[in-house]
Amino acid sequence: MIDIARQYQVALPAWIDDELADVPAAVPDREDRMRLVHRLADRNWRAGDGGPFAALVAERDSGRIVSVGVNVVLASGVSSAHAEVVALGLAQTATGGWDLGGDGLPAHELVVNWRPCVQCYGATMWSGVRALVVAGEGPELEEITTFDEGPLGADWAEQFQARGIEVVKDVLRDEALTVFRDYRKAVDSADGIVVYNARGGAE
Ligand SMILES: [Zn+2]
Repeated sequence: MIDIARQYQVALPAWIDDELADVPAAVPDREDRMRLVHRLADRNWRAGDGGPFAALVAERDSGRIVSVGVNVVLASGVSSAHAEVVALGLAQTATGGWDLGGDGLPAHELVVNWRPCVQCYGATMWSGVRALVVAGEGPELEEITTFDEGPLGADWAEQFQARGIEVVKDVLRDEALTVFRDYRKAVDSADGIVVYNARGGAE
């Protein structure tokens, strides 16, 4: 028989428990939800688990936190383990299925510290969330961090809206940039921080 893997695992890092210890079950204010995302993103790259990215899924109206996610590409060795994919997968595990917009469920929103990359754009569209809340969009993320986010159309937000997914932008945008700049400073100072673009060596 061929020798192949049968499963792969993506899990939150152990330090997440420290960060969640003082977080209430529901965070009604959207800025507070984003504040938590920024805090997780900052801790994540410092811990060496992946890039400076975090996300959470909350019930849109009550603010109940359903899941959190951080980028664990480095920790898991799985290139798709972006914060959004982790948060959405854990939310679906918690709610019992693949559709966060399913019958009987409250409306869910995904909160992320920047506009999703091409992969997470699709993952968000498939997830059943009713809203996407981002700290910002624009070229700053790629300029500061050098991650290649892929070719997303200029109408990315309109495409979400056309599918019933509300897009909320510019929630604590400056705070997002601060996390990215701190990350970049560490990369430039050769602290052993890895920018894991897969095509880094490709011409
Ligand atoms: Zn992504």
